[in-house]
Amino acid sequence: MRRFLAIFIILFLSGNLIAQEYEYSYGFFTNSMMKENYFFSSVKSSGGSVIKAIKGKLPVAGSRFHTPGNALELQYMNSASGSWQAAVYHKEIRGMDHFRDASALSIWIYDASAESSVTAMPEVQLMRRDSSLTTAVPITANKGEWQQITIPFSKFGISNAGEAFQTIAVIFSSKGTDTGKLRTFYIDDIEFTSTDKALKLIAKPELQDASGYAMHVDISWKKVSAPAVKLIKIYRSEDGRNFNAVGVQYPFISRFADYAGETGKKYWYCISYLDADYNESEKSNVLEASTRPMTDEELLTMVQQASFRYYWEGSEASSGMAREDIPGRHNMIASGASGFGIMALIAGTERGFISRDESVKRFEQITDFLSKAETFHGVYPHFIDGPSGKVEPFFGNQDNGADLVETSFLMQGLLAARQYFDRNNSQEKEIRDRITSIWEKAEWDWFRHYPNSKFLYWHWSPDQAWVINHNLIGWNETMVTYLLAIASPTHAVPASMYYSGWANQDSTGQKYRSAWGQTTDGSMYSNGKTYFGIKLDVGVSNGGPLFFTHYSYMGYDPHFITDKYTNYFTNNQNIARINYKYCVENPKKFKGYGPDGWGLTASDGPFDYSADEPVMGQDHGKLAPTGAISSFPYTPVESMQALKSYYFNYGSFLWGEYGFRDAFDLTNNWCSDLYMGLNQAPMTVMIENYRTGLIWNLFMKNPEIKEGLKKLEKESK
Ligand code: CA
Repeated sequence: MRRFLAIFIILFLSGNLIAQEYEYSYGFFTNSMMKENYFFSSVKSSGGSVIKAIKGKLPVAGSRFHTPGNALELQYMNSASGSWQAAVYHKEIRGMDHFRDASALSIWIYDASAESSVTAMPEVQLMRRDSSLTTAVPITANKGEWQQITIPFSKFGISNAGEAFQTIAVIFSSKGTDTGKLRTFYIDDIEFTSTDKALKLIAKPELQDASGYAMHVDISWKKVSAPAVKLIKIYRSEDGRNFNAVGVQYPFISRFADYAGETGKKYWYCISYLDADYNESEKSNVLEASTRPMTDEELLTMVQQASFRYYWEGSEASSGMAREDIPGRHNMIASGASGFGIMALIAGTERGFISRDESVKRFEQITDFLSKAETFHGVYPHFIDGPSGKVEPFFGNQDNGADLVETSFLMQGLLAARQYFDRNNSQEKEIRDRITSIWEKAEWDWFRHYPNSKFLYWHWSPDQAWVINHNLIGWNETMVTYLLAIASPTHAVPASMYYSGWANQDSTGQKYRSAWGQTTDGSMYSNGKTYFGIKLDVGVSNGGPLFFTHYSYMGYDPHFITDKYTNYFTNNQNIARINYKYCVENPKKFKGYGPDGWGLTASDGPFDYSADEPVMGQDHGKLAPTGAISSFPYTPVESMQALKSYYFNYGSFLWGEYGFRDAFDLTNNWCSDLYMGLNQAPMTVMIENYRTGLIWNLFMKNPEIKEGLKKLEKESK
């Protein structure tokens, strides 16, 4: 756990270290996820100058924009001796770390001032990482129209793109001029651009489907292949004649979830392409769809299908496996998330989201890739480069080898798949055989590090051996690693390691647990205290983040795991209930917490990725939908309450093409742009386990797993 977070360091790369990785525009603003104010901005003023701000940030304008759905409002009045400054920050998004070459800053601006003077136009500067500012460049714009301002880097005193990519904010300011007059500008699409003329659009897009749900319509189109397409622009009409632009989409996502926000209403849609200069193509064909009332069962299927699409449509191209996050790196596969995705693909196949044939083809691709990909003692790395199949040390150079925990999440999915593809034909047999081979090659026993070691170790590096030196100690998300290591038919570890390592009782385990829990509660593995009226048998502090109750138990049915201390279905259920009760009590008074807003777990956040827990020190005010929704088997009533609130109350920002976005924080008026590979699939899979037990039943059918359980039972006597 500790290490998991400690090595979450995102390296910022401006060059092409990895061949052909997708290059994003280095951007500062396209749209705000939230209304009212823009989280990634700040304003200040002094000496009698005033600038409009909402809670210290720039207002978001929903009615006037260059790209739909919004822009930023810059409204100010200067005084003779005063000044103001507004900063728009570059968002550092995991995996969005390769950028298109650039030579200039581009801003779209609209002058909506009532008065005609141009003497109070703002100046623009770039802020470097050390907070120093470049030369200020004055800008001008005509009134009443959107205009592109392009400022070459040289005007800021910057000589190259590498230096420009160190910019953390674009600063707007002015002082002293044109005093006492109200100026109003709208600014949009702030980004670095190349002054080379871009490729021109030739084709027009083709809309393929529009499907209505309770509050939103999903539209999808033919995959974009033309490199000239920068964005897809989406139009909605309520009468089939007058169309309003409602949003934009990346060219690598062929789908848009339009949260129209009304049930039982008909809408018409069309789309267009935008090129690098925002020139627009011809519009597509028009398709219509109606929103409709949905039953609880239909809502569950809707959430399952949307999250399933992350792994079906959003997969890495060479392998068919899961990416770490979207948007993020396109070529980088995350092993553990892929294991979860495999289980989501199975649930999706069984629910008919795809055909069995389509599913078989995908699993042939996945298992073929994994049979050839780089492993270390049969164990996969955390991240794999899709095109080459080699380790990708995304978390730093020490993490350039095996990751036993990620591999166990992957293996959990593969073993469920081995039982699902049970038909007597050559394709399904090949899938089963490849999975057996992968399973049998994994040298779980190598990861003991020392002869007769009590513990399994998380990582091994081919050139730095055990340098990360992280031994696996419960309670956390890694129980399945011990259970699989014990169950291995070829490289098993003794079942006694469950007690000597996972549930370790000596000072190593005690110190480890109290260090990360900041309490002695649960430092002996077992806990025994009561929180919010609920007795917790096992768990550090009051149980920890909810992903502890998800990752190891998506395939492995916790009903069957009973050790000397507890049964893990009951214990997981109690952890989910404690989490729920904590959020209802909401001691830090965060906005949005309550019976329909709960579930602290690991997710993206406004300031950082963090593993939130239901304790004061680890509760940062953000809620991740996966927390409550992946807990469906444990807390069906409370999970359904959260699901409905997230969709019906917050869907306008929280719901997107792959279902719920990773997290939101109403106190900070922030919502994540991201979908995370580790967080989407658990929703699909755990809802399925709640509804039918499908993935649990498949996984538990594996004979080695049954044998492993017997060994553990013997050890527990
Ligand atoms: Ca915009």
